Amino acid sequence: MALFMNIVGLPALVDTYENYIWVIHNNQQAWVVDPGEARPVIDYLQQNDLQLAGILITHKHGDHVNGINQLVTQCATVGDLPIYGSALTPLAAINHPLQEGDAITLGDSLTLKVLYTPGHTEDHIAFYNEKMLFCGDTLFTAGCGRILGGSIEQFSDSVLKLRELPDDIAFYCGHEYTQTNLAFSQIVEPENQALLERIQNTHIDYPQILTAAQSTLGEEKATNPFMRFDLNPLKKRLIERGAANNPASLFATLRAWKDDFDRTH
Ligand SMILES: [Zn+2]
Repeated sequence: MALFMNIVGLPALVDTYENYIWVIHNNQQAWVVDPGEARPVIDYLQQNDLQLAGILITHKHGDHVNGINQLVTQCATVGDLPIYGSALTPLAAINHPLQEGDAITLGDSLTLKVLYTPGHTEDHIAFYNEKMLFCGDTLFTAGCGRILGGSIEQFSDSVLKLRELPDDIAFYCGHEYTQTNLAFSQIVEPENQALLERIQNTHIDYPQILTAAQSTLGEEKATNPFMRFDLNPLKKRLIERGAANNPASLFATLRAWKDDFDRTH
């Protein structure tokens, strides 16, 4: 029996990192993506009479993994709760280490494939299928993660890899930084009409629970400068700021521009 999967975004660490923990459930079993804290997940599972069936981890940072132990202690009904994560993530709790090309099946109805997407960190993976993408801190709505362990070459490669996926894929990322990301996007690509429309149509109610995807990959390709760094006119602008004409240098120049923006806003 193929049960329909619901996907809900639980705000977590709302006063600091503004995370989303994604809960994938079929009204009985639930899998959680990147539980940076346990409390919002435990409350949601109890309120909705859901049983924790597994945990998915995109990368090693505390705001994505610190809730694991409490969830295992308080919610796991099976002895060996599957905890999926990158084979490169240094976390003893991960009992299903994954690498690119692996696939996991949640319940009997949802298969997700693994993409290796290093750059934000060296261990980062994304989970995806033809309908959805959980990209952790590799990409955000209208932005991307900072470089905290991976290399710039890895990061631009990872983004270009994600750009190969279809436009209509639902986009689920790890944080709610849309407003500042859009403000920066408008500075670097003021002539982008799709971006202007997105800015006009964006209303963020964080920390409300999300019952829909944050975006689509197509919308990100059209408006997120970190998916457009090698396209004119942005590319030309980055070269004027000192980038060499290759993906890593263009990406690095854009990332440094955003870091400057973050320091002054
Ligand atoms: Zn992170």
